[in-house]
Formats: sequence, C-alpha cells, structure tokens
Amino acid sequence: MLRLPQFEVATPSTVREAIELYTSVEGALIVAGGTDLVPNMKHELFTPPLVVSLANIASLRGIARIDKGWLSIGAMTTLADVATSDLVTAQAPALAQATGLVAGPQLRAMGTLGGNVLLDTRCQWYNQTYFWRQALGFCLKKDGSKCHVVEGGSKCVAAASNDSAPALMTLGAILVFEGPAGRRSVPIDDLWLADGIVNKRLEPGEILVEIQIPPTAPGHRGAYGKLRERGSIDFPLLGVAVALDVDNKSKIERADVVLTALQARPLRIKRAHETLVGHEVGTSECATAIEVTAELAHKQCHPMPNILGDHDWRREMVTVYVRRTLKAAIDRSGPVHHV
Ligand code: SF4
Repeated sequence: MLRLPQFEVATPSTVREAIELYTSVEGALIVAGGTDLVPNMKHELFTPPLVVSLANIASLRGIARIDKGWLSIGAMTTLADVATSDLVTAQAPALAQATGLVAGPQLRAMGTLGGNVLLDTRCQWYNQTYFWRQALGFCLKKDGSKCHVVEGGSKCVAAASNDSAPALMTLGAILVFEGPAGRRSVPIDDLWLADGIVNKRLEPGEILVEIQIPPTAPGHRGAYGKLRERGSIDFPLLGVAVALDVDNKSKIERADVVLTALQARPLRIKRAHETLVGHEVGTSECATAIEVTAELAHKQCHPMPNILGDHDWRREMVTVYVRRTLKAAIDRSGPVHHV
C-alpha cells in the first residue's frame, strides 16, 4: 500500500487567505480536487509541508454568462459540472466533450476545470513510485540527471495530458490568476512553455481563479477526440480538439485544430485554418480538405515514448483522430472515442 507522507492541510475560505497561506510556507502546494496531486504525493513526486485546499472557497465554483456573451467558469467548478452544463455545451461544445472524457465519473465529480488546466505533465518513467524511479536512477524531471525517453537529452519531454487545454485553446479562452500582486488575465495560448519539467508560466504565489470563454459565432461547431487504452479512466494517448465556425451558407469561415499528449505543450496544427476555410460542409471539396488537414497533422506530430502506447501507432492515430474529430464537429456528433 502506498502511504501519503506527513503534511499539514489548510482550508481557507477566501482567495486572499489562500494566497497568504500559499506564500507563507516554502514548498507549499495548492490542491483543487486532488485527483492528480494526491496520487503524485503518494509517489513522492511532491512532498509539500503544507497543502492549501481551495475546497471551501465558494466564489471559485460556478458557471455564468458575463458581459457581452462571455462565459465565466470558476476554477473549482467540477469537470462533471462543466461537461453537463447547458451553457458550456451550447457555447463551447469541444470543452463540454473534453471534460466529459476526463478519467471516470467519480474523478470528474472531484476533479476541477482549474486543476485540469494546471495538470502536471506526465511520463511513463516519472509517474511511478519512489522505489520504481530510484531503481532506474531517477530522471531529469525529479531527482536525476538523465532522460529515459531521449537518450542523451538535456530537456524533459514529458507530455501535456490535460484534455481541457486543447479545447480551451481552440476557443481562445482567457485564464484569470490572482496572486500577491493582484489579478492578471492570460490568453491560454501564452501559458505554455516547451519544457516538460515545468510547462506553464506562473508567477510565484498566484492561483487560477477563473476561466473565461469568449462568445462563439452562431454557426460554431466543436468536437473533442480522445485516444486512450480503455474506454474510461485513462489519460489521453492523444487528444484532438476542433473548432469550426460555419456561416449561413454552410461555408467554413474559421477552423482551429489543437492536439495534446504529444509533447510538453499542446500543439496547434499549422495551416489547418487555411486548408479548411471557404469549403462548404458536406461537399467532396470539404472532405478532401479534411483529409489534407489530417495529413498536415500527421506531418507535424511526432509522438515520443514518453507516455504509454507504441509511439509509431500513436502517430498513425493522429491522422485517424484528426479526420474523425473534424467530421464529428461538422456533424455535431462528438465526442470521438472508443468504448
Ligand atoms: Fe524524465 Fe525524460 Fe520522462 Fe522527462 S521525458 S519525465 S526527463 S524520463
């Protein structure tokens, strides 16, 4: 049995109080739903002296329409609530589908959108017990000096594994942080670093409090596709988020395709917009554009043996999942996954 190491827990009831506690003890960590942090602490990937829980801060929960059609989702809103929200399903279908495919029902009832956005990167050589990692001589991400994925590599390539992130990128979401210096808003595209050890630009002591989603076009369509070993529970072996805006003549006027579970940051497929835009959905030209986009993704994506699943097979699945997810967005038939 894996035991948790000893640590203190604080349960503040305001964000200000949480920030003060978080910054008062060196090495303190924030816990949202705890579905990732707690197992990681059992694996001694993190050994914080203090864990500051956001569970009692009521202002961080809820989904509401705010100014000019923007949607506000509190960072502590559960993944289950995001996945089943009528507001999210209507305005951000890819996000509803992505959050609905995270883990399983019990974990979605505890896990939060903020926690999923800030999920640590994952690697099959890292997400293991202390005993297991020690036997291997550890690795660059924690306690060691080499990488087991890239021989001789000096950079960690652990994979971004959060299903919500690519969906939020296709939607142009804004992340609102609160910290010792006040509030700041960050476009989610600007959050990421290409470094598997720490793949997010965060200021010391700040907490993610809100995720804002801009209004989408009347003809907006979105979908999420998730490749995983089993039909539930697992982290993605590949995640594909698609956003398409279709005008009143059924022509695509905006397209975005973002993939995750490849490298340290989610990856936007270059030239997907130019390839798909202007085509009328349901036509043979549109079907050809979908195939070309799937091939573009195949050329641009190079899965590594950082997470489970044969990486050559995962690369072939890029074509399949981009094609299927684009079709699902057009048909409004997502999400795409096997059961
Ligand atoms: Fe460790 Fe390399 Fe995996 Fe990073 S990619 S967690 S350095 S084995």
